[in-house]
Amino acid sequence: MALACAMTTPESTVFEKLFHDDQPIGGGGTAIWFTAAACPLAIKHSQIEPTHKAEQITPSSTLPAVAWAMEIIWIDIRYECIPVCPMRNYASIARKARDNCDLRRSQPSRPLLTLEVESDFLREGHAMFCYQCEQTSKGQGCQTIGVCGKDETVATLQDLLLHVVKGISMYAHRSAKLGAADPEVDAFIIRAIFATLTNVNFDPGNLVGLIYQAVGVRRAARYLYELSCSRAQTAPAELHGAATWVPSTTLDGLLAQGEMVLLPVRRLIEGKEISDLKELVLYGIKGVAAYAAHALEFGVVRPQIYAKFHEVLDFLTHPAPTVEELLAMALAVGELNYQVMEMLDRAHIEAFGAPQPTMVRLHAIGGKAILVSGHDLHDLYAVLDQTRGLGIQVYTHGEMLPAHSYPKLKAFSHLAGNYGGAWIDQAEEFAAFPGAILMTSNCIQEPTKEYKGRIFTSGPVAWPGVTHIQDRDFSPLIAQALLLPGYVEDGLDDEILIGFGHDTVLDLADQVIAAVKLGAVRHFFLIGGCDGARSGRTYYSELAEKVPDDCLILTLGCGKFRFNKLDFGYIAGLPRLLDIGQCNDTYSAIKIAQALAEAFQCGVNDLPLSLVLSWYEQKAIAVLLTLLHLGIRNMRIGPTLPAFLSPEVLKLLHEKFNLQAITTAEEDLAAMLV
Ligand code: SF4
Ligand code: SF4
Repeated sequence: MALACAMTTPESTVFEKLFHDDQPIGGGGTAIWFTAAACPLAIKHSQIEPTHKAEQITPSSTLPAVAWAMEIIWIDIRYECIPVCPMRNYASIARKARDNCDLRRSQPSRPLLTLEVESDFLREGHAMFCYQCEQTSKGQGCQTIGVCGKDETVATLQDLLLHVVKGISMYAHRSAKLGAADPEVDAFIIRAIFATLTNVNFDPGNLVGLIYQAVGVRRAARYLYELSCSRAQTAPAELHGAATWVPSTTLDGLLAQGEMVLLPVRRLIEGKEISDLKELVLYGIKGVAAYAAHALEFGVVRPQIYAKFHEVLDFLTHPAPTVEELLAMALAVGELNYQVMEMLDRAHIEAFGAPQPTMVRLHAIGGKAILVSGHDLHDLYAVLDQTRGLGIQVYTHGEMLPAHSYPKLKAFSHLAGNYGGAWIDQAEEFAAFPGAILMTSNCIQEPTKEYKGRIFTSGPVAWPGVTHIQDRDFSPLIAQALLLPGYVEDGLDDEILIGFGHDTVLDLADQVIAAVKLGAVRHFFLIGGCDGARSGRTYYSELAEKVPDDCLILTLGCGKFRFNKLDFGYIAGLPRLLDIGQCNDTYSAIKIAQALAEAFQCGVNDLPLSLVLSWYEQKAIAVLLTLLHLGIRNMRIGPTLPAFLSPEVLKLLHEKFNLQAITTAEEDLAAMLV
């Protein structure tokens, strides 16, 4: 594996090194000194003798000139120099810096920055680093293969795809500021980002295609920007890095290029605190993109929302954001997610009607069968529509459960029931299902041989060797279902109650308020979010079971499958467990909380309401940022804390929002009921 350059002082960022050095800068003595001769990659990729690679420039006495030069060099180190030849690029940058800033070559007295050795991470042979989800290896980062099954090829291609997407947004953000937008560019970045979420796209061929497609989209975005500038009679900015990066034409070349965007390499350049916070913003925007992609399937388009996406992604290319700027941007991502969840909520309701309380069958009806998993209600509708009159029963799985509460979906008589639990059990459950299976979004796991031949993907999901359905033509899925035996007989008649979206609960508002005023309902708990494989997640079922009888539990997301089949009974005529829906239905939960706060003439934080969140992947991060943006305090989060939140950031979030890690069900319950 090729080696990459890294700074000799990993604890310092370039700018810290530049500005916080105790020696005066300028005066003809101090130099920015690249000992590229010591960079193995430079030697490997160039014809120049190592001794020729040491370039030295001495800045004039003006600090801004040095900063300017450093910024350009820094950007190019990150995005362009490393995978090719640092010295070749450096020479042109130095020339440019000299021309523009009166820098002149001379002998250095002391190097400010030395590029000389590869990072330990790369020396140890790692070619991937990912810590975007809760199950990340050792709670630190997946470095050889993802716990999710993502290998280094897929990880690298996803990193590169995000890199080009940022380049697209560099142009699109500037176009948006000039009042121009291209809906195709907007839609592309949303769908491309979705492909990089946990448990979505594991197909290298598909990701390579997206990278090349992204370069074409970037060209369109650049053209629009230049056109907008010309109309506004202003000169376009000269953009670099992700805006101009050229992908290799081979897979090996792409993988070599991928080293430049690996997080450990970026950490060496930007510093851990900044790069970790950038990841927080990135993971947040990934989650928002997933929800926006679902809304897009319903034709919902709001240019100002896409403009914000571009602003955030462009921001992530800035070389030196401060901690304060990054935290402010993280909360802005939370605000954006609130708007997108509202947009998706409206899209669902306009398409299928408002969710209603509905009993959902949990067992089979004899006959041919299709199982639909993931979050895309539009896909489910199309499957139901295309299977009318064919004698196929359609079952929901995982996050598709709330579909049964939408009037237009439950009107299909062959929407037979809900099968199984959360995504983590899919290997066993899909193997046992006697029909064809469709995965419409995350969370897919590696299909086992028992069902690999009868599982299909759609939308952003892809797995090598699994048939991907295009344009909602589900004929291959239906044909497969007709070939398979299906259920030979009806199963038991168990049911669960779902369908407590904001409209339903607000219709019950008077009843709820009266129950609280009479003391029949003491406290509300929102126990929701994702599920995952860690043993610590039993906390959530223990907590739900231990909630006293005079309290209501609201739930959403796939975390509920740990307790949603338990009998919680009723209180003051209300079910004690109110299933609000999918994780994006956090919007409903917020509306319910706001309505209660209004009824009781207090703030949401003053309500007898406790939020206990289980996170797993990036949508949960977007949701968390939304709740923080809304100023919700005292939330508990688990089962473990995100690896990308440093102790300092966690301390800050604790101080500002009293965000806490879960402890034990007993301890937390006692604290929440004080
Ligand atoms: S998505 Fe999660 S499990 Fe997969 S590689 Fe990244 S951190 Fe690891
Ligand atoms: S709620 Fe999160 S963990 Fe659960 S299926 Fe959806 S994306 Fe996956």
